[in-house]
Amino acid sequence: MPELPEISARSKEMKDTLVDKTIQHIEILQPKSLNVPEKEFIRALTGATICNVSSRGKWIFVETDQGWLLLNLGMGGEILLTPCDEQPEKRRLSFRFDDGTCLSINFWWFGYVHYMPSGSLQEHKMTAKLGPQAIDLTAQDLKQIIANRKARVKSFLLDQSSIAGIGNAYVHDILFLAKLHPLRTLNTLSQDEIERLAGAIHAGLQPSIDKGGAFYEVNLQGEKGGFTMEDILIGYKEGQPCPACKTEIVKIKTGSTSSFICPNCQPIDE
Ligand SMILES: [Zn+2]
Repeated sequence: MPELPEISARSKEMKDTLVDKTIQHIEILQPKSLNVPEKEFIRALTGATICNVSSRGKWIFVETDQGWLLLNLGMGGEILLTPCDEQPEKRRLSFRFDDGTCLSINFWWFGYVHYMPSGSLQEHKMTAKLGPQAIDLTAQDLKQIIANRKARVKSFLLDQSSIAGIGNAYVHDILFLAKLHPLRTLNTLSQDEIERLAGAIHAGLQPSIDKGGAFYEVNLQGEKGGFTMEDILIGYKEGQPCPACKTEIVKIKTGSTSSFICPNCQPIDE
């Protein structure tokens, strides 16, 4: 599933390549991805020129002079920019631009392609409730968000309305870097531990951002991301030695999810 590193990489690539292009034609093969009727979507965005592209969490925000195009790849997918006669067969939707290129969007399972009129982005419920972008958080921000909350630290990190962009691919290494057990409760964290967690969120996401995201997602040209299993510290590596202390990494049950931890570096004792 794409998380902040992949989505921010796609968003940056889209900003670099799509700004000033005008949408000439829209092809919709999966109308259920839309939040408005197909005809309305096409009428709203045909002729629109792209002004900017940004991201928050797992959402990409394409700002046009005729309103917003909001994308969420769900479990994963591809966003590819190709000449229109070389479009991939597997696509749910595509946008043809005035320069003969096409942006085609495919979802492995299901995703969202939403339209919001200019000035009404706040009314888009799914993105309006997103927390701040994880990579931009300072220790001070995190202290404010965490104050007096009782959630477990792992479920807090995964809750997109608290912090946007962290999912199961990166959460294990973030907790390892913070030296925190996933089941620690927020109100037991010391100020030092919260500062460590803020640093760990950054340290756990930035290397993948720098490498264009994880290897299982592709960029607009169809090339795989450079962040591989070798770059992952402890996530999905049960039985292997902890990179810090050589203790065996274990997979544990944490509520309904599994977690990968070093029992020595991430003790449950508070
Ligand atoms: Zn360790």
